[in-house]
Amino acid sequence: MQAENLLKLQSVDQEIARLQREARVYPDRVQEARLVEARLRAEYEAFKKRLAEAEKEHQEMSATFELEDQRLKKSKTKIKQLKTPYEFQALNREIMNTERSNKDLEDSIVKKMEEVEDLKARIQISEQEWKTSLDEFQKKESEAKSKGEEFNQTIESKLEAQRVAREAVEKPLLAKYHFVQRRYSDALVAVKGSSCQGCFRNLPPQMTNEMRKNKLIEQCPNCSRLLYIP
Ligand SMILES: [Zn+2]
Repeated sequence: MQAENLLKLQSVDQEIARLQREARVYPDRVQEARLVEARLRAEYEAFKKRLAEAEKEHQEMSATFELEDQRLKKSKTKIKQLKTPYEFQALNREIMNTERSNKDLEDSIVKKMEEVEDLKARIQISEQEWKTSLDEFQKKESEAKSKGEEFNQTIESKLEAQRVAREAVEKPLLAKYHFVQRRYSDALVAVKGSSCQGCFRNLPPQMTNEMRKNKLIEQCPNCSRLLYIP
């Protein structure tokens, strides 16, 4: 009778433990999704920062080119009015140098523009990936919330069954069971043949004989689990 009552309690205890284990899966999934979302958001933000920098550089280079180009046009007007060959040669050299550096600058501006376009394309993909991960995170979060409530309700109802089952077990036995339960979720196991079904070691024959005769609950001398004869 005591064994039966304790078995009932153990089965409720194991059920509660199982439910609590299962319930923990959902917050874990939320945490995973949160990390992915944070990583993709940081990536997206980094791309946006790089784009802003590249656009600023492009703007500065274009402004420099504009100034240099105006200076070149002025020099080209001025060179026509020069009288001495010395002055002409000096300005002509300057014009050629400016033309060369402007050509280089123009190439750099084109390259910068390509970088800007490339970044814009990558940002679109990055933004999409981030938004997808954000959706996923929110989905997991609301799933965890509803599942959490569901589990809480189920566990709540099991706690009542647990309270009733505890009351049916004699106090000293209950204390012993709770003590063993700290180590083993199967604190109460059957004796099969002459061995403990927790550690599968053989038990002293006089002990199992006693148990059979008096319907006793004993403790396994090896693993300390509580034993009963089914
Ligand atoms: Zn044992």
